Amino acid sequence: MSKQAGKPSSISLQSTKLSDLFQQSPAFICTLHGPEHVFELANNRYLQLVGFRDVVGQPVAKALPEVVDQGFIKLLDTVYQTGKPFIGNEIVVSLQREKGAPLEERYVNFIYQAMKDEQDKVFGIFVHGVDVTDQVLIRKQIEESERKLQESENRFKKYTEAMPQMAFMADAKGNITFFNERWYEFVGGLEDTEGWGWKDKPIHHPDDLQKAIDRWSHSLETGEPYEIEYRLRRHDGEYRWHLGRALPVTDDSGKILQWLGTNTDIHEQKLAIQHKDDFLAIASHELKTPVTSIKAYTQVLERNFRNRGDDKTANTLERVNAQIDKLTNLIGDLLDVTKIQSGKLVFHRDYFDSNALIEEIVEEVVLSADTHQIEKELDETVRIFGDRDRIGQVLTNLLTNAIKYSPDAKKVVVATKIKKEYLEISVQDFGIGIPQEKQAEVFKQFFRVTDDGQSAFPGLGLGLYISSEIVRRSGGKIWVESTVGSGSIFYFTLPLEK
Ligand code: ADP
Repeated sequence: MSKQAGKPSSISLQSTKLSDLFQQSPAFICTLHGPEHVFELANNRYLQLVGFRDVVGQPVAKALPEVVDQGFIKLLDTVYQTGKPFIGNEIVVSLQREKGAPLEERYVNFIYQAMKDEQDKVFGIFVHGVDVTDQVLIRKQIEESERKLQESENRFKKYTEAMPQMAFMADAKGNITFFNERWYEFVGGLEDTEGWGWKDKPIHHPDDLQKAIDRWSHSLETGEPYEIEYRLRRHDGEYRWHLGRALPVTDDSGKILQWLGTNTDIHEQKLAIQHKDDFLAIASHELKTPVTSIKAYTQVLERNFRNRGDDKTANTLERVNAQIDKLTNLIGDLLDVTKIQSGKLVFHRDYFDSNALIEEIVEEVVLSADTHQIEKELDETVRIFGDRDRIGQVLTNLLTNAIKYSPDAKKVVVATKIKKEYLEISVQDFGIGIPQEKQAEVFKQFFRVTDDGQSAFPGLGLGLYISSEIVRRSGGKIWVESTVGSGSIFYFTLPLEK
């Protein structure tokens, strides 16, 4: 403060406009008088800072006892004695801001400025500053999370160098910021694969590149884990199958900070699975032909014996025939599964009449299972666009299951209902039912409810899996409602023509 005419007092300040400015200032301000630093003036902000205590007229040490041990009185003494200002930056002060409450830490930027009279003698101290706690805390939080991130980054990098897999790190925008040594060994020192550079290098198999870009972009947008199988080109030119995976690292608010990922060589496993699938596909295909001709021969034989009046042999042959049908179905199921897995289940779509198909299938099923009556509760017929044979296969499967799993019942009900945008088809039985927790599982491959008594029902657990695949590909849904002991209703829907 410069030389002033006389010693300023609260009276003179209050009598001017200065007093308003002083009160409304966004900064905290107070004046301290004498070597004991007695509060003369304190504006609202200052009072707010110290918890609205009655400070005016009291020395600092008495008004704010908690600050004595924090070095502030010493600082004030020095300023008072030397006349030199003290500037504090982000100084922590612990204050009793509420009676009885624990001390609260505030961060403040402030100045202690000596007030001097005409003889240049210090008579007091002008205190002026701002509470920067919020900014400091936010900054500290950011610094802390940056530090943590850096730490986890370093740990990850160190870790990855010991790993047999290729590993990478990417920022929230998907730019690769790090590849471990394994990567460079594999790609053979290709430069500029970081960032999105990998996209333009001959690394991904041309048939897999777009899929990789799409999946990666999808994960970046949604935060969903990245998981993909693709072929990566080794330095010697060989493409090898890899499982690519990445997980997001988020801050406390869930914001994605970075991605950590790996590429694992799964070439051998992939080929082994491929071989198994190929084997199943070839074996079931090759089995189909002889079984079909065996069936034709037994039918001829059955007819011949029947014509000759040898009913006993003919009846035996009829049973053989029924077994051959089962075998044919099993082979068909296996073939379908291999087709689904290799994405080769072909659909031949055309228009067909819903009720005509149902009547036809029911008739067929009744022929081979005369233990049950099949009741029909059909809504009006509708035109469906889809693969008639495949949808017929779903219906056959649901009906044969209904019969198979209700050995003590006499009937099965097939019903249709026209809903707004789809046709709902249901098959109800009054059999053993399926426990609640297994109901979603029955549509999975090879799943069979292994309750006691289940061994009485042979099967591979493929029918519903194939059915659900067909329904899904037809644009519909399939589900089941069931109660153990009273029976099940399987439903599926087919979209209606608009
Ligand atoms: P599979 O009948 O050849 O075992 P599915 O895929 O057709 O194979 O059925 C899977 C499993 O679901 C069956 O093993 C059976 O446990 C259960 N399941 C299917 N349909 C019914 C039904 N109508 N009632 C009770 N359980 C059923």
